[in-house]
Amino acid sequence: MYKINDNFSALGHRYLFSEIATRVAAYQTAHPDADIIRMGIGDVTRPLAPAVIEAMHKAVDDCATMSGFHGYGPEHGYDFLRCAIVANDYKGLGIDPSEVFISDGAKSDTGNIGDIFSTDNIVGIPDPVYPVYMDTNIIAGRRIRMIPCTPDNGFTGEIPDERLDIIYLCYPNNPTGATISRQKLKEWVDYALENGSIILYDAAYEAFIRSEDIPHSIYEIEGAKECAIEFRSFSKTAGFTGIRCGFTVVPKKLRNLNYLWERRQSCKFNGASYVTQKGAEAVYSAAGMKQTRDTVDYYLGNARIIRETMSKLGLNPVGGDNSPYVWAETPGGMDSWDFLDMCLEKANVVLTPGSGFGSLGSGYFRVSAFGDRSRTLDAMVRMENMIVKGI
Ligand SMILES: *Cc1c(COP(=O)(O)O)cnc(C)c1O
Repeated sequence: MYKINDNFSALGHRYLFSEIATRVAAYQTAHPDADIIRMGIGDVTRPLAPAVIEAMHKAVDDCATMSGFHGYGPEHGYDFLRCAIVANDYKGLGIDPSEVFISDGAKSDTGNIGDIFSTDNIVGIPDPVYPVYMDTNIIAGRRIRMIPCTPDNGFTGEIPDERLDIIYLCYPNNPTGATISRQKLKEWVDYALENGSIILYDAAYEAFIRSEDIPHSIYEIEGAKECAIEFRSFSKTAGFTGIRCGFTVVPKKLRNLNYLWERRQSCKFNGASYVTQKGAEAVYSAAGMKQTRDTVDYYLGNARIIRETMSKLGLNPVGGDNSPYVWAETPGGMDSWDFLDMCLEKANVVLTPGSGFGSLGSGYFRVSAFGDRSRTLDAMVRMENMIVKGI
């Protein structure tokens, strides 16, 4: 008889956002007229850049011709996109196009990367963090150590006093919105080099960095090409959450990991579509860069408003300046899920409970800036009324 993967039984009951969606749906059913403002899930809301749309239309037209038709592409992505990524995102950092692997997004890549590592590795996972790292390692049955991310370390993690083989880092961070300085990132790189560890660096929110002193890529740190894999995505950068495109950089200096990832992808993945990759390439055109930056600036404007409100309410916010997320304390140390229910019922605002991202997230909540400006302003007024005036 077949045996199932019992590791699934060690996973939390359900994915964080399905639990929130269930509660919101139940509330909406009971209160059909409630005007709910959703500031919970981290999905973008603004349309794709015109330059991207134009490139994708043209790519569709290509495929309508005998000479421009594209069937299966290279599993690691088209050279036109790999080269555009290297020339723009990794300018001066010594990354070669053959070290860049195009995919359908960073969720799959951060989840699938485990395939090239033994299950006999000890994995360090920040607490709190994006749930994918934890869940995929539970599924694989690896031993996990939490890396505490607290106000004391600016949510950039305590350097472990034991040897961890694989370490996930995510900056700008989801959910805390915290960023990491060059100096602190160098401490992590030095730790990895000393311990023979690999850092899996998720830079999905790189496009939100506006302060000059914050590193955009881990490869800005000396030695990182010998100890780090970097993940990026067009999802938050250019609104590709529904189009699906991202990439992973696996330097050739990392033993044989570049070969293993190539082998893994060509075995289990058949490439992102030509149309998608043409759209992604257009993000790097002059018009595309300006348009996507404007959209990111729009979200950053929302984030500033959220951060200022949370600050005014005395909830000690983090993030929101180089990130679309603001992380704040629940009033009076209230339980995160209770605060979600309270905001839903009293303000008709949906937030994400901090404890959904790890046990150290309890007593916190995340607010997403990916909404509409006027709705963001409305939500902030409602929260102020709820907390300050108790209505
Ligand atoms: C949104 C997000 C991603 C990107 O996911 P895609 O699959 O590329 O849409 C990756 N990492 C983090 C931390 C995220 O929040």
